[in-house]
Amino acid sequence: MTRKFDGTRILIATHNAGKLEEMEQLFAPHGVEVVGAAEMKLAEPVETEDSFIGNARIKARAAVEATGLPALADDSGIEVEALDDAPGVYTADWAETPKGRDFILAMTKTHELLEAANAPHPRKARFRATLVLAWPDGHEEVFDGRVNGTLVWPMRGAVGHGYDPMFQPDGYDITFAEMDPAEKNRVSHRADAFQKLIAGCLG
Ligand code: IMP
Repeated sequence: MTRKFDGTRILIATHNAGKLEEMEQLFAPHGVEVVGAAEMKLAEPVETEDSFIGNARIKARAAVEATGLPALADDSGIEVEALDDAPGVYTADWAETPKGRDFILAMTKTHELLEAANAPHPRKARFRATLVLAWPDGHEEVFDGRVNGTLVWPMRGAVGHGYDPMFQPDGYDITFAEMDPAEKNRVSHRADAFQKLIAGCLG
């Protein structure tokens, strides 16, 4: 049985203002107030696991332990089928440079690896987002969201972030970076995970 969330406050274990705002809108209709990790001055734990669920769990548990509040954390990335699901949990790491994250570099590397492997078209990929909702008594619920698509080259579009310019979701002929953000927020991996969370814990 999925445990229902019947509290009035939830800690969102992220330092990302955009994610916090997205969560705020999601929880508001259910009478739940969200509190951000920055507001509570929480440190960002090191993500040492090799799975989305493992890293989301680290963030959620650290937040619960620091605040005593139920906490929600997410971890996300892109899996490329012909690259044995890489970069996956290491998506952000592939963009790391001494001057900060560079996703043009990460996408170029991904394309070059696919070319070197002579990967057939369409080059299938999926974005994944895993949410972990953790309670102070140790209980947790996990929701796995995904969106399937193909990788295109050259990159197209200027909105969005990360791998959006090379990811074309199934059923569309535009990339996430060419899509109206409101539409992306309806069909994304994160939306899929959120919908499952709402249905499971707040429905
Ligand atoms: P995190 O879950 O914030 O650690 O994100 C991991 C990485 O996955 C991000 O740095 C992004 O590059 C990538 N990523 C996650 N979701 C998206 C998305 O919707 N579009 C593009 N890239 C994404």
